[in-house]
Amino acid sequence: MKPVKPKNFYITDWAMADEKCKARMERMMEGFGQPVSKVQVITEDEIEGLVRSKDWVDLDIRQGRVPFTGDPDVVFNKFKWTPWEETKKFIEGNDLLKNSKGYTRNFLRMLYGCMDHFHLESGKGKRDREVVCWQLYDLHSAYGCFHKCQYCRRGRVTTLMLNIEEFLGQVDQLMAENPWQKVFRYDVETDCLILEPEYGMCRALVEHFAEIDDRYIILFSKSDNVDFLLDLDHKGHTIMLWTLSTPTVSRRIERETATTEQRIEAARKCQEAGYTVRFKCKPITPIKNWREEATCSRSSSPRWSRTTSAWRCSSSTASPS
Ligand code: SF4
Repeated sequence: MKPVKPKNFYITDWAMADEKCKARMERMMEGFGQPVSKVQVITEDEIEGLVRSKDWVDLDIRQGRVPFTGDPDVVFNKFKWTPWEETKKFIEGNDLLKNSKGYTRNFLRMLYGCMDHFHLESGKGKRDREVVCWQLYDLHSAYGCFHKCQYCRRGRVTTLMLNIEEFLGQVDQLMAENPWQKVFRYDVETDCLILEPEYGMCRALVEHFAEIDDRYIILFSKSDNVDFLLDLDHKGHTIMLWTLSTPTVSRRIERETATTEQRIEAARKCQEAGYTVRFKCKPITPIKNWREEATCSRSSSPRWSRTTSAWRCSSSTASPS
């Protein structure tokens, strides 16, 4: 994993009681370079006190507006898969969940183990404004991120679901219920590569989708932590997707991400390993001279001329979606 240094670690008691989750937590603690004794076990009843003491009651503040205090705390966790009626009752009886909104609401639901492992992006609002936009299910197994993009709000705390085998079973069910969707994206609520290979979710998804006809998984990132992917037998069913921003934005606004050049180099490695590679140019951040910086073919900068051939090469790659 990337050399990140969270100060505080927690694990829910229902994750700790699961041997596979516990083993995964131990492997990740080794990756963090920290002893397992640093992980504090929390019960469901203790979550509210933790949330209030850490001021996680309102996470909907962009990181550029709050002072950075290092890497996020980590809460190891486990999906509970409770039926919606039961979940709804639980939410209604919990002030914290009932009164929260936006990203905070989803994070808190994840913290209690009762958030869905997907969300539907219907795209309807955009289509109503005559913008072409597809509908899709996004997959999630974590809320929170170690990158510090100034426009994002995910950097204060991360909760990671460790029941990967059950997650894959739920993804199969989602696919069976939605035969129209061929390509699934993972994960817009975190950066999926940073904590790999110790976490193990990316490898599990790559190998799982490799065995499914006519379905593909997108791994979406701003990281260059790809070496663990290069020898996997993906069978062409994994698409690597990077946000591609300009060099200045990658350094000054998307702090602690891989730089533009590092992302392109990571894409090159993945392309050589047979992965389909894609870039998405979003968000467009309005810095001085953004248009010149973003127009690589017109730039005489050595930094850009190094990257231009990789961009051309990758952007011409065929994709199944
Ligand atoms: S990489 Fe994505 S999830 Fe992470 S801080 Fe940046 S925008 Fe947020």
